[in-house]
Amino acid sequence: MNCSTCQKHLDAYFDGTLSVDLKIQVDDHLAACKACAELYARWSVVEQVMNEEKSTSSNPFLATRIMSQLEEMQAKKYAPAHSIAKRPVFRPVTVVFIVGVAISLGVLLGNLYRPLQVRHAPSTELLYLDDATIEPIAFYDAK
Ligand SMILES: [Zn+2]
Repeated sequence: MNCSTCQKHLDAYFDGTLSVDLKIQVDDHLAACKACAELYARWSVVEQVMNEEKSTSSNPFLATRIMSQLEEMQAKKYAPAHSIAKRPVFRPVTVVFIVGVAISLGVLLGNLYRPLQVRHAPSTELLYLDDATIEPIAFYDAK
């Protein structure tokens, strides 16, 4: 086996998928050829690192955060155009409008509702009562 044939089979040799016959030939060549043995050593290190990187799993919270950000972006993109109240510019206007409508409705309902009015006839003592002057007690005794 020459060097190029050996190097062609290194991948299968590392994976262990070579036939027994070829494996023995590659083993013999690697034992005899220092350049191919060195190449195989480097190549196997690279292959191990690549396998470790492939088997590394990502953080599950990372996927959750990315999905929530994507949903947020989609929600912003496809927000209905008629939801004017949700825009920050129109929020104060909406609040003022609602408060104005509520006050107007309260005034209107207050004017429509008239409670039962009971009129008390003022007593005769109150008719003659004058806070600005002090009446003599004889004034009340006269009646
Ligand atoms: Zn060789």
